[in-house]
Amino acid sequence: MALPKVDAAFAPANLDAIVGPTRIPRMSRSPDHIIRPAILALSAYHVPPASGMVKLDAMENPYSLPPGVRDEIARLAADAPINRYPDASGAALKAALRESLAIPPGLEIMLGNGSDEIIQIIALACAKPGATLMGVEPSFVMFRMIATFAGMDYVGVPLNADFSLNLDATLEAIARRQPAVIFIAYPNNPTGNLFDDEAISRIIEAAPGVVVVDEAYHAFADASFMDRLAQHPNLLLMRTLSKQGLAGLRLGLLLGRPEWLIQLEKVRLPYNVGVVTQLIAEKVLKHRDILLQQAAAIKCERAVISQRLAAMESVDAFPTDANFILFRVNEAGQVFQSLKKRGVLIKNLDGSHPLLKNCLRVTVGTPEENILFLAALQASLPQSNAKFGANG
Ligand SMILES: *Cc1c(COP(=O)(O)O)cnc(C)c1O
Repeated sequence: MALPKVDAAFAPANLDAIVGPTRIPRMSRSPDHIIRPAILALSAYHVPPASGMVKLDAMENPYSLPPGVRDEIARLAADAPINRYPDASGAALKAALRESLAIPPGLEIMLGNGSDEIIQIIALACAKPGATLMGVEPSFVMFRMIATFAGMDYVGVPLNADFSLNLDATLEAIARRQPAVIFIAYPNNPTGNLFDDEAISRIIEAAPGVVVVDEAYHAFADASFMDRLAQHPNLLLMRTLSKQGLAGLRLGLLLGRPEWLIQLEKVRLPYNVGVVTQLIAEKVLKHRDILLQQAAAIKCERAVISQRLAAMESVDAFPTDANFILFRVNEAGQVFQSLKKRGVLIKNLDGSHPLLKNCLRVTVGTPEENILFLAALQASLPQSNAKFGANG
């Protein structure tokens, strides 16, 4: 990676001149000596360039909002008081969320700059020395990364080969490691499946700390733990608007009992959700019918792609309740590169976890994008294995 340009005064040649008079040995000022070893050991979250590509790598909603709603947003943005700090409590937006998501009374809401920030708030609040954050693997990589940022120990319990929860192993790990926090994505990313809800309940009951059920893909699944919040005092529920068409706005939310959220609110930076995000999210939530229609269209297309993938001989597509599909091919790396050459960007998961060997993940796009993806995939599969190969 190229280093950013630095001012001439800070170029290495002059560094001794700057460092010299203070008598601080030069090396002690280097990042290697100052940054925590756990951070030095990390590799940065990689976001590949996608300009000009059919972008099916990041679980974005491919649809934009109708012109009328966009006009309303334009007026809101024009009149937004951006010279003022945002409402730190997000009261109007929370009221809109309460109605739109049918949040039961008695539960509190905490807003985050995306749900990524909420994961970070929870980890920061729970990071006692030696505290453990637990997840299952493979799952959302941010659970592990943010545990590291916060200085927590991380434990990832492997899923079964079919990506179901290994309940015995998870309960055993809970008993042994006594995790302060457990994150479970429902549906799971990158596998797309919903875990058995009774198994999750067993985990919540066995947990000595808090369990966060991450429902980032709720819009595409017909299941939720919302109803179980009343039953489990150590359960928190996380949602986001990102996968529903508002990824660029950055809004996530956490639902839970007041006794938890009062404490977590102390860690939330007061102005974490901007004026424009609050206004636009509130407006779009009033058009819930549009979001629901778009999610329905994505679910229809998901079925179409799944069917087409199932018909390809050398492709093994996994069941999904999210807006993406995980599938296994021969030579995933080559297939991924070939798709990229053909202008289609998906996610290569090969090498990220042993259970994801030769796995690729495609986000459901518009019907046109999906046709392009399927054609490019067909053309990218190793010829000898493709059902519709040379003769098809
Ligand atoms: C995408 C994703 C998130 C993060 O979404 P935000 O854009 O930060 O709200 C959280 N959890 C899972 C499982 C995800 O896939």
